Amino acid sequence: MDDIAPPTHDAAEVVERLHHTFASNRTKPAQWRRSQLEALRSMLTAEEPELQAALNADLGKCATEAYITEIGFLRSEVDHALSHLSQWLRPRRVSSTLPLMPSRARTVREPLGVVLIISPWNYPLNLALSPLVGAIAAGNCAVLKPSELAPSVSAVLAKLLPRYLDPQAITVVEGGVTETTALLEQRFNHIFYTGNSTVARIVMTAAAKHLTPVTLELGGKSPAIVEPDVDLTTTARRLAWGKFMNAGQTCVAPDYVLAVGGCAAELESRLATAVAEMYGPRPIESPDYGRIVNERHFDRLTPLLNSGRLVTGGDTDRSQRYIAPTVLADVDNEAPAMQEEIFGPILPIVSVPDLDTAIATVKQRERPLALYAFTESKHSRRRLTTATSSGAITFGIPNAHLTVPGLPFGGVGESGMGNYHGQYSFEAFTHPKAILEKSLTPDTMAPTYPPYSRLKDRL
Ligand code: NAD
Repeated sequence: MDDIAPPTHDAAEVVERLHHTFASNRTKPAQWRRSQLEALRSMLTAEEPELQAALNADLGKCATEAYITEIGFLRSEVDHALSHLSQWLRPRRVSSTLPLMPSRARTVREPLGVVLIISPWNYPLNLALSPLVGAIAAGNCAVLKPSELAPSVSAVLAKLLPRYLDPQAITVVEGGVTETTALLEQRFNHIFYTGNSTVARIVMTAAAKHLTPVTLELGGKSPAIVEPDVDLTTTARRLAWGKFMNAGQTCVAPDYVLAVGGCAAELESRLATAVAEMYGPRPIESPDYGRIVNERHFDRLTPLLNSGRLVTGGDTDRSQRYIAPTVLADVDNEAPAMQEEIFGPILPIVSVPDLDTAIATVKQRERPLALYAFTESKHSRRRLTTATSSGAITFGIPNAHLTVPGLPFGGVGESGMGNYHGQYSFEAFTHPKAILEKSLTPDTMAPTYPPYSRLKDRL
Protein backbone atom coordinates (compact mmCIF):
# COMPACT_ATOMS: atom_id res chain seq x y z
CA MET A 1 0.00 0.00 0.00
CA ASP A 2 1.50 3.30 -0.98
CA ASP A 3 -0.32 5.47 1.57
CA ILE A 4 1.33 3.79 4.58
CA ALA A 5 3.14 6.51 6.49
CA PRO A 6 6.76 5.73 7.35
CA PRO A 7 7.05 4.39 10.91
CA THR A 8 8.06 6.99 13.42
CA HIS A 9 8.93 6.62 17.07
CA ASP A 10 8.47 10.24 17.97
CA ALA A 11 5.35 10.26 20.14
CA ALA A 12 4.66 13.95 19.55
CA GLU A 13 4.90 13.52 15.80
CA VAL A 14 2.67 10.44 15.77
CA VAL A 15 -0.04 12.10 17.82
CA GLU A 16 0.13 15.35 15.90
CA ARG A 17 -0.29 13.49 12.63
CA LEU A 18 -3.41 11.81 13.98
CA HIS A 19 -4.84 15.12 15.21
CA HIS A 20 -4.30 16.43 11.70
CA THR A 21 -6.17 13.43 10.25
CA PHE A 22 -9.04 13.84 12.69
CA ALA A 23 -9.30 17.55 11.89
CA SER A 24 -9.68 16.62 8.20
CA ASN A 25 -12.93 14.76 9.08
CA ARG A 26 -11.60 11.64 7.37
CA THR A 27 -12.77 9.32 10.16
CA LYS A 28 -16.24 10.74 10.65
CA PRO A 29 -18.32 9.30 7.78
CA ALA A 30 -20.15 6.08 8.60
CA GLN A 31 -18.61 4.59 5.47
CA TRP A 32 -15.06 5.03 6.79
CA ARG A 33 -16.00 3.42 10.10
CA ARG A 34 -17.71 0.54 8.36
CA SER A 35 -14.80 -0.09 6.00
CA GLN A 36 -12.33 -0.14 8.91
CA LEU A 37 -14.45 -2.57 10.91
CA GLU A 38 -14.78 -4.81 7.86
CA ALA A 39 -11.01 -4.65 7.32
CA LEU A 40 -10.44 -5.61 10.95
CA ARG A 41 -12.75 -8.55 10.47
CA SER A 42 -10.84 -9.62 7.35
CA MET A 43 -7.61 -9.44 9.30
CA LEU A 44 -9.01 -11.67 12.05
CA THR A 45 -10.00 -14.25 9.44
CA ALA A 46 -7.07 -14.13 7.05
CA GLU A 47 -4.38 -13.85 9.69
CA GLU A 48 -5.85 -16.24 12.23
CA PRO A 49 -2.92 -18.71 12.05
CA GLU A 50 -0.36 -15.96 12.67
CA LEU A 51 -2.41 -14.46 15.48
CA GLN A 52 -2.81 -17.89 17.09
CA ALA A 53 0.91 -18.57 16.81
CA ALA A 54 1.70 -15.27 18.51
CA LEU A 55 -0.72 -16.03 21.37
CA ASN A 56 0.85 -19.44 21.74
CA ALA A 57 4.36 -17.99 21.79
CA ASP A 58 3.51 -15.43 24.46
CA LEU A 59 1.19 -17.41 26.73
CA GLY A 60 1.18 -21.02 25.56
CA LYS A 61 -2.44 -20.52 24.52
CA CYS A 62 -3.93 -23.44 22.65
CA ALA A 63 -5.76 -22.69 19.40
CA THR A 64 -9.23 -23.37 20.81
CA GLU A 65 -8.80 -21.11 23.82
CA ALA A 66 -7.20 -18.46 21.61
CA TYR A 67 -10.25 -18.61 19.37
CA ILE A 68 -12.89 -18.59 22.10
CA THR A 69 -11.35 -15.90 24.30
CA GLU A 70 -9.63 -13.69 21.75
CA ILE A 71 -10.15 -14.10 18.00
CA GLY A 72 -13.75 -15.36 18.05
CA PHE A 73 -14.65 -12.87 20.76
CA LEU A 74 -13.30 -10.05 18.61
CA ARG A 75 -15.18 -11.23 15.55
CA SER A 76 -18.43 -11.11 17.49
CA GLU A 77 -17.56 -7.65 18.79
CA VAL A 78 -16.87 -6.40 15.24
CA ASP A 79 -20.05 -8.03 13.89
CA HIS A 80 -22.11 -6.50 16.68
CA ALA A 81 -20.67 -3.05 15.94
CA LEU A 82 -21.28 -3.44 12.20
CA SER A 83 -24.88 -4.49 12.64
CA HIS A 84 -25.67 -1.75 15.19
CA LEU A 85 -23.63 1.14 13.81
CA SER A 86 -26.48 2.83 11.94
CA GLN A 87 -28.66 2.63 15.01
CA TRP A 88 -25.94 4.06 17.27
CA LEU A 89 -25.31 6.91 14.83
CA ARG A 90 -28.95 7.90 14.67
CA PRO A 91 -29.76 11.10 16.56
CA ARG A 92 -31.85 10.44 19.68
CA ARG A 93 -34.86 12.65 20.07
CA VAL A 94 -35.76 13.85 23.53
CA SER A 95 -38.78 15.86 24.64
CA SER A 96 -38.28 19.55 24.89
CA THR A 97 -39.94 21.53 27.68
CA LEU A 98 -43.27 23.32 27.63
CA PRO A 99 -41.82 26.85 28.05
CA LEU A 100 -39.56 26.23 25.02
CA MET A 101 -42.36 25.04 22.73
CA PRO A 102 -42.28 24.88 19.79
CA SER A 103 -38.75 23.43 19.64
CA ARG A 104 -36.91 20.22 18.93
CA ALA A 105 -34.29 18.55 21.12
CA ARG A 106 -32.02 15.65 20.32
CA THR A 107 -28.58 14.21 20.98
CA VAL A 108 -25.93 13.08 18.53
CA ARG A 109 -22.86 11.10 19.45
CA GLU A 110 -19.74 12.85 18.20
CA PRO A 111 -16.29 11.23 18.10
CA LEU A 112 -13.86 12.42 20.77
CA GLY A 113 -10.83 12.85 18.49
CA VAL A 114 -7.49 11.11 18.98
CA VAL A 115 -7.60 8.37 21.58
CA LEU A 116 -4.86 6.33 23.25
CA ILE A 117 -5.45 2.65 24.00
CA ILE A 118 -2.96 1.04 26.37
CA SER A 119 -3.42 -2.71 26.69
CA PRO A 120 -2.05 -5.49 28.91
CA TRP A 121 -0.46 -8.86 28.20
CA ASN A 122 -2.98 -11.40 29.48
CA TYR A 123 -5.44 -11.30 26.56
CA PRO A 124 -3.09 -9.25 24.42
CA LEU A 125 -5.14 -9.38 21.25
CA ASN A 126 -8.62 -9.10 22.70
CA LEU A 127 -7.78 -6.26 25.08
CA ALA A 128 -5.99 -4.27 22.37
CA LEU A 129 -8.52 -4.68 19.58
CA SER A 130 -11.78 -4.77 21.49
CA PRO A 131 -11.45 -1.13 22.63
CA LEU A 132 -10.22 -0.29 19.12
CA VAL A 133 -13.52 -1.60 17.69
CA GLY A 134 -15.33 0.97 19.85
CA ALA A 135 -12.88 3.74 18.95
CA ILE A 136 -13.33 3.07 15.21
CA ALA A 137 -17.12 2.70 15.40
CA ALA A 138 -17.14 6.05 17.19
CA GLY A 139 -15.15 7.70 14.37
CA ASN A 140 -11.90 8.41 16.20
CA CYS A 141 -8.23 8.26 15.35
CA ALA A 142 -6.33 5.93 17.66
CA VAL A 143 -2.88 5.12 18.96
CA LEU A 144 -2.67 1.54 20.15
CA LYS A 145 0.06 0.68 22.64
CA PRO A 146 0.15 -3.11 23.12
CA SER A 147 1.88 -4.68 26.11
CA GLU A 148 5.60 -5.28 25.81
CA LEU A 149 5.10 -8.35 28.02
CA ALA A 150 3.34 -10.13 25.15
CA PRO A 151 6.03 -9.30 22.56
CA SER A 152 4.85 -11.66 19.80
CA VAL A 153 1.32 -10.28 19.77
CA SER A 154 2.67 -6.73 19.99
CA ALA A 155 4.90 -7.35 16.95
CA VAL A 156 2.08 -8.97 14.96
CA LEU A 157 -0.25 -6.06 15.68
CA ALA A 158 2.42 -3.56 14.64
CA LYS A 159 2.95 -5.49 11.41
CA LEU A 160 -0.64 -6.29 10.46
CA LEU A 161 -2.75 -3.32 11.52
CA PRO A 162 -1.13 -0.87 9.07
CA ARG A 163 -1.79 -3.38 6.28
CA TYR A 164 -5.49 -3.63 7.00
CA LEU A 165 -6.49 -0.37 8.69
CA ASP A 166 -6.16 3.23 7.59
CA PRO A 167 -2.58 4.10 8.64
CA GLN A 168 -3.36 7.79 8.59
CA ALA A 169 -5.85 7.29 11.41
CA ILE A 170 -4.70 4.25 13.36
CA THR A 171 -1.16 3.73 14.59
CA VAL A 172 0.49 1.07 16.71
CA VAL A 173 3.29 2.22 18.98
CA GLU A 174 5.21 -0.66 20.53
CA GLY A 175 7.24 -0.41 23.69
CA GLY A 176 7.29 -0.40 27.46
CA VAL A 177 7.44 2.25 30.17
CA THR A 178 9.62 4.70 28.21
CA GLU A 179 7.44 4.70 25.11
CA THR A 180 4.21 4.80 27.11
CA THR A 181 5.50 7.66 29.23
CA ALA A 182 6.34 9.61 26.07
CA LEU A 183 2.84 8.96 24.72
CA LEU A 184 1.23 10.01 27.99
CA GLU A 185 2.91 13.41 27.72
CA GLN A 186 0.91 14.09 24.54
CA ARG A 187 -2.53 15.55 24.39
CA PHE A 188 -5.21 12.94 23.71
CA ASN A 189 -8.98 13.31 23.71
CA HIS A 190 -9.45 10.07 25.62
CA ILE A 191 -7.23 7.45 27.22
CA PHE A 192 -8.44 3.89 27.53
CA TYR A 193 -6.18 1.92 29.87
CA THR A 194 -6.42 -1.76 30.82
CA GLY A 195 -4.05 -3.09 33.46
CA ASN A 196 -3.16 -2.71 37.11
CA SER A 197 -4.25 0.04 39.45
CA THR A 198 -0.72 1.33 40.16
CA VAL A 199 -0.12 2.22 36.52
CA ALA A 200 -3.73 3.44 36.31
CA ARG A 201 -2.78 6.17 38.76
CA ILE A 202 0.17 7.17 36.55
CA VAL A 203 -2.17 7.27 33.53
CA MET A 204 -4.79 9.33 35.33
CA THR A 205 -2.18 11.78 36.64
CA ALA A 206 -0.81 12.27 33.12
CA ALA A 207 -4.35 12.64 31.74
CA ALA A 208 -5.19 15.30 34.35
CA LYS A 209 -2.53 17.61 32.88
CA HIS A 210 -4.54 17.87 29.65
CA LEU A 211 -7.99 17.34 31.26
CA THR A 212 -8.21 14.15 29.22
CA PRO A 213 -11.03 11.81 30.23
CA VAL A 214 -10.05 8.22 30.98
CA THR A 215 -11.53 4.77 31.00
CA LEU A 216 -9.69 2.49 33.42
CA GLU A 217 -10.24 -1.24 33.16
CA LEU A 218 -8.54 -2.71 36.21
CA GLY A 219 -8.62 -5.85 38.31
CA GLY A 220 -8.95 -6.94 41.91
CA LYS A 221 -9.94 -9.99 43.94
CA SER A 222 -13.19 -11.24 42.41
CA PRO A 223 -14.84 -13.60 44.92
CA ALA A 224 -16.96 -16.67 44.23
CA ILE A 225 -19.50 -17.37 46.94
CA VAL A 226 -20.82 -20.93 47.04
CA GLU A 227 -23.86 -21.91 49.10
CA PRO A 228 -24.42 -25.56 50.05
CA ASP A 229 -27.78 -25.85 48.25
CA VAL A 230 -26.28 -25.90 44.73
CA ASP A 231 -25.12 -28.71 42.45
CA LEU A 232 -21.51 -28.75 43.62
CA THR A 233 -20.25 -30.84 40.70
CA THR A 234 -21.34 -28.32 38.09
CA THR A 235 -20.30 -25.44 40.34
CA ALA A 236 -16.81 -26.94 40.66
CA ARG A 237 -16.56 -27.44 36.89
CA ARG A 238 -17.56 -23.87 36.17
CA LEU A 239 -15.17 -22.51 38.79
CA ALA A 240 -12.30 -24.61 37.42
CA TRP A 241 -13.16 -23.49 33.89
CA GLY A 242 -13.27 -19.78 34.82
CA LYS A 243 -10.18 -19.93 37.04
CA PHE A 244 -7.76 -22.05 35.08
CA MET A 245 -8.32 -20.78 31.54
CA ASN A 246 -5.25 -18.83 30.47
CA ALA A 247 -3.54 -20.32 33.57
CA GLY A 248 -5.58 -18.07 35.83
CA GLN A 249 -4.31 -14.87 34.19
CA THR A 250 -7.76 -13.45 33.60
CA CYS A 251 -8.91 -10.16 35.12
CA VAL A 252 -12.39 -11.57 35.83
CA ALA A 253 -11.24 -15.03 37.00
CA PRO A 254 -12.71 -16.11 40.34
CA ASP A 255 -9.86 -15.08 42.64
CA TYR A 256 -10.95 -17.01 45.73
CA VAL A 257 -13.91 -19.06 46.92
CA LEU A 258 -15.99 -18.37 50.00
CA ALA A 259 -17.59 -21.74 50.81
CA VAL A 260 -20.65 -21.14 52.95
CA GLY A 261 -22.08 -23.37 55.67
CA GLY A 262 -19.75 -26.34 55.59
CA CYS A 263 -19.78 -27.05 51.83
CA ALA A 264 -15.98 -26.59 51.54
CA ALA A 265 -15.02 -30.26 51.98
CA GLU A 266 -17.35 -31.49 49.26
CA LEU A 267 -16.46 -28.60 46.96
CA GLU A 268 -12.75 -29.37 47.37
CA SER A 269 -13.09 -32.91 46.11
CA ARG A 270 -15.36 -31.85 43.23
CA LEU A 271 -12.81 -29.21 42.22
CA ALA A 272 -10.02 -31.80 42.22
CA THR A 273 -12.16 -34.02 39.99
CA ALA A 274 -13.05 -31.12 37.68
CA VAL A 275 -9.38 -30.19 37.22
CA ALA A 276 -8.49 -33.81 36.46
CA GLU A 277 -11.36 -34.06 33.96
CA MET A 278 -10.26 -30.89 32.17
CA TYR A 279 -6.47 -31.17 32.19
CA GLY A 280 -5.79 -34.86 32.91
CA PRO A 281 -3.61 -36.35 35.65
CA ARG A 282 -0.56 -34.37 34.40
CA PRO A 283 -1.74 -30.88 33.37
CA ILE A 284 1.83 -30.04 32.35
CA GLU A 285 1.23 -32.34 29.38
CA SER A 286 -2.21 -30.99 28.56
CA PRO A 287 -2.33 -29.12 25.23
CA ASP A 288 -5.18 -27.07 26.70
CA TYR A 289 -3.31 -25.59 29.64
CA GLY A 290 -1.35 -22.32 29.38
CA ARG A 291 1.81 -20.93 30.92
CA ILE A 292 2.67 -18.01 33.19
CA VAL A 293 3.64 -14.98 31.12
CA ASN A 294 7.18 -14.53 32.50
CA GLU A 295 9.60 -15.46 35.30
CA ARG A 296 8.75 -12.38 37.35
CA HIS A 297 5.11 -13.42 37.58
CA PHE A 298 6.14 -17.07 38.13
CA ASP A 299 8.31 -15.99 41.09
CA ARG A 300 5.50 -13.80 42.44
CA LEU A 301 3.04 -16.69 42.35
CA THR A 302 5.00 -19.66 43.73
CA PRO A 303 5.16 -18.40 47.36
CA LEU A 304 1.34 -18.18 47.32
CA LEU A 305 1.19 -21.98 46.94
CA ASN A 306 1.89 -22.25 50.68
CA SER A 307 -1.23 -20.35 51.69
CA GLY A 308 -3.26 -23.45 52.64
CA ARG A 309 -3.73 -27.21 52.51
CA LEU A 310 -3.08 -28.58 49.01
CA VAL A 311 -6.16 -30.16 47.45
CA THR A 312 -4.81 -30.55 43.94
CA GLY A 313 -1.88 -29.18 41.93
CA GLY A 314 1.01 -27.41 43.59
CA ASP A 315 3.77 -28.56 41.27
CA THR A 316 5.78 -26.12 39.21
CA ASP A 317 8.47 -26.02 36.51
CA ARG A 318 10.25 -22.70 36.19
CA SER A 319 11.95 -23.62 32.92
CA GLN A 320 8.49 -23.80 31.31
CA ARG A 321 6.88 -21.16 33.54
CA TYR A 322 4.41 -23.87 34.50
CA ILE A 323 2.29 -23.78 37.63
CA ALA A 324 -0.25 -26.59 37.94
CA PRO A 325 -3.92 -25.74 38.37
CA THR A 326 -3.94 -25.58 42.15
CA VAL A 327 -6.73 -25.64 44.72
CA LEU A 328 -5.92 -24.75 48.33
CA ALA A 329 -8.26 -25.43 51.25
CA ASP A 330 -8.46 -24.21 54.87
CA VAL A 331 -7.09 -20.87 53.70
CA ASP A 332 -7.06 -18.16 56.31
CA ASN A 333 -8.50 -14.81 55.29
CA GLU A 334 -5.12 -13.28 56.29
CA ALA A 335 -2.99 -15.73 54.24
CA PRO A 336 -0.62 -14.36 51.54
CA ALA A 337 -2.94 -15.59 48.74
CA MET A 338 -5.74 -13.49 50.24
CA GLN A 339 -3.83 -10.18 50.17
CA GLU A 340 -3.45 -9.20 46.49
CA GLU A 341 -5.18 -10.24 43.27
CA ILE A 342 -3.67 -13.69 42.52
CA PHE A 343 -3.72 -13.48 38.71
CA GLY A 344 -2.50 -17.05 38.35
CA PRO A 345 -3.76 -20.66 38.63
CA ILE A 346 -4.18 -20.82 42.41
CA LEU A 347 -7.68 -21.06 43.88
CA PRO A 348 -7.92 -20.64 47.65
CA ILE A 349 -11.05 -21.81 49.46
CA VAL A 350 -12.00 -19.92 52.60
CA SER A 351 -14.73 -21.49 54.72
CA VAL A 352 -17.36 -19.14 56.15
CA PRO A 353 -20.29 -20.11 58.40
CA ASP A 354 -23.02 -18.14 56.62
CA LEU A 355 -23.89 -15.66 53.87
CA ASP A 356 -23.58 -12.68 56.24
CA THR A 357 -19.96 -13.58 56.95
CA ALA A 358 -19.34 -14.07 53.23
CA ILE A 359 -20.74 -10.61 52.50
CA ALA A 360 -18.74 -9.05 55.34
CA THR A 361 -15.55 -10.75 54.03
CA VAL A 362 -16.12 -9.36 50.54
CA LYS A 363 -16.80 -5.89 51.91
CA GLN A 364 -13.53 -5.83 53.89
CA ARG A 365 -11.74 -5.55 50.56
CA GLU A 366 -11.82 -3.12 47.67
CA ARG A 367 -14.79 -3.38 45.32
CA PRO A 368 -14.01 -6.20 42.86
CA LEU A 369 -14.39 -6.34 39.09
CA ALA A 370 -16.89 -9.18 39.47
CA LEU A 371 -18.68 -11.12 42.16
CA TYR A 372 -19.82 -14.67 41.40
CA ALA A 373 -22.41 -16.52 43.41
CA PHE A 374 -23.66 -20.07 43.25
CA THR A 375 -26.93 -20.39 45.14
CA GLU A 376 -30.43 -21.67 44.51
CA SER A 377 -31.92 -19.13 46.90
CA LYS A 378 -33.67 -16.09 45.40
CA HIS A 379 -33.35 -14.39 48.74
CA SER A 380 -29.54 -14.86 48.71
CA ARG A 381 -29.37 -13.51 45.15
CA ARG A 382 -31.30 -10.41 46.11
CA ARG A 383 -29.20 -9.86 49.21
CA LEU A 384 -25.94 -10.27 47.34
CA THR A 385 -27.06 -7.90 44.59
CA THR A 386 -28.02 -5.12 46.99
CA ALA A 387 -25.53 -5.65 49.84
CA THR A 388 -22.34 -5.77 47.76
CA SER A 389 -20.75 -3.55 45.12
CA SER A 390 -18.76 -4.85 42.14
CA GLY A 391 -18.31 -4.18 38.42
CA ALA A 392 -20.66 -7.10 37.73
CA ILE A 393 -22.47 -9.82 39.62
CA THR A 394 -23.32 -13.14 38.05
CA PHE A 395 -25.09 -16.23 39.32
CA GLY A 396 -24.15 -19.74 38.27
CA ILE A 397 -21.27 -18.87 35.92
CA PRO A 398 -18.03 -16.91 36.21
CA ASN A 399 -16.38 -14.76 33.49
CA ALA A 400 -19.19 -15.15 30.92
CA HIS A 401 -20.89 -11.78 31.43
CA LEU A 402 -18.26 -10.14 29.28
CA THR A 403 -19.44 -12.13 26.26
CA VAL A 404 -22.88 -10.48 26.37
CA PRO A 405 -22.49 -7.35 24.23
CA GLY A 406 -25.59 -5.77 25.76
CA LEU A 407 -23.98 -5.76 29.20
CA PRO A 408 -21.54 -3.02 30.21
CA PHE A 409 -18.10 -4.31 31.10
CA GLY A 410 -16.10 -2.36 33.65
CA GLY A 411 -15.18 -1.96 37.27
CA VAL A 412 -16.15 0.24 40.16
CA GLY A 413 -13.86 1.94 42.68
CA GLU A 414 -10.44 0.26 42.71
CA SER A 415 -11.50 -2.14 39.90
CA GLY A 416 -11.89 0.70 37.43
CA MET A 417 -14.04 3.45 35.96
CA GLY A 418 -16.07 3.55 32.78
CA ASN A 419 -17.46 0.69 30.71
CA TYR A 420 -17.15 -0.83 27.28
CA HIS A 421 -18.31 -3.66 24.97
CA GLY A 422 -21.06 -3.27 22.38
CA GLN A 423 -22.88 0.02 22.60
CA TYR A 424 -20.98 0.90 25.77
CA SER A 425 -17.74 0.97 23.75
CA PHE A 426 -19.31 3.32 21.24
CA GLU A 427 -20.48 5.53 24.09
CA ALA A 428 -17.09 5.41 25.86
CA PHE A 429 -15.47 6.90 22.75
CA THR A 430 -18.10 9.52 21.91
CA HIS A 431 -19.52 12.66 23.41
CA PRO A 432 -23.31 12.95 23.55
CA LYS A 433 -23.77 16.38 22.02
CA ALA A 434 -26.98 18.15 22.98
CA ILE A 435 -28.84 19.84 20.14
CA LEU A 436 -31.74 22.20 20.62
CA GLU A 437 -33.50 23.90 17.72
CA LYS A 438 -35.99 26.72 18.14
CA SER A 439 -37.23 28.94 15.40
CA LEU A 440 -36.99 32.70 15.76
CA THR A 441 -40.54 33.27 14.65
CA PRO A 442 -42.94 33.55 16.30
CA ASP A 443 -40.91 34.79 19.27
CA THR A 444 -42.56 32.72 21.99
CA MET A 445 -39.82 33.76 24.40
CA ALA A 446 -40.87 37.41 24.40
CA PRO A 447 -42.91 37.15 27.62
CA THR A 448 -39.82 35.91 29.50
CA TYR A 449 -37.46 38.77 28.64
CA PRO A 450 -36.63 41.45 31.27
CA PRO A 451 -37.78 43.69 32.78
CA TYR A 452 -38.98 40.85 35.04
CA SER A 453 -41.35 43.17 36.84
CA ARG A 454 -43.72 42.45 33.95
CA LEU A 455 -43.64 38.74 34.87
CA LYS A 456 -44.55 39.21 38.53
CA ASP A 457 -48.28 38.95 38.05
CA ARG A 458 -47.93 35.75 35.98
CA LEU A 459 -45.60 33.75 38.28
P1 NAD B 1 0.98 -4.84 31.80
O1 NAD B 1 2.18 -5.03 32.65
O2 NAD B 1 0.99 -5.36 30.41
O3 NAD B 1 0.65 -3.28 31.82
C1 NAD B 1 -0.42 -2.75 31.12
C2 NAD B 1 0.06 -1.64 30.22
O4 NAD B 1 0.60 -0.60 31.01
C3 NAD B 1 1.15 -2.08 29.25
O5 NAD B 1 0.84 -1.61 27.96
C4 NAD B 1 2.39 -1.43 29.81
O6 NAD B 1 3.34 -1.10 28.83
C5 NAD B 1 1.85 -0.19 30.49
N1 NAD B 1 2.72 0.26 31.58
C6 NAD B 1 3.33 -0.53 32.49
N2 NAD B 1 4.03 0.25 33.36
C7 NAD B 1 3.83 1.52 32.99
C8 NAD B 1 4.26 2.80 33.50
N3 NAD B 1 5.07 2.89 34.57
N4 NAD B 1 3.85 3.91 32.88
C9 NAD B 1 3.04 3.84 31.79
N5 NAD B 1 2.61 2.67 31.28
C10 NAD B 1 2.99 1.53 31.85
O7 NAD B 1 -0.30 -5.51 32.46
P2 NAD B 1 -0.67 -5.61 33.98
O8 NAD B 1 -0.91 -4.28 34.56
O9 NAD B 1 0.24 -6.55 34.69
O10 NAD B 1 -2.07 -6.34 33.80
C11 NAD B 1 -2.60 -7.11 34.79
C12 NAD B 1 -3.65 -6.32 35.55
O11 NAD B 1 -4.61 -5.85 34.63
C13 NAD B 1 -4.41 -7.17 36.54
O12 NAD B 1 -4.65 -6.42 37.69
C14 NAD B 1 -5.69 -7.47 35.82
O13 NAD B 1 -6.76 -7.76 36.67
C15 NAD B 1 -5.91 -6.22 35.05
N6 NAD B 1 -6.72 -6.48 33.89
C16 NAD B 1 -7.92 -5.89 33.81
C17 NAD B 1 -8.73 -6.15 32.72
C18 NAD B 1 -10.09 -5.53 32.57
O14 NAD B 1 -10.64 -5.64 31.48
N7 NAD B 1 -10.64 -4.91 33.58
C19 NAD B 1 -8.28 -6.99 31.72
C20 NAD B 1 -7.02 -7.55 31.84
C21 NAD B 1 -6.24 -7.28 32.92
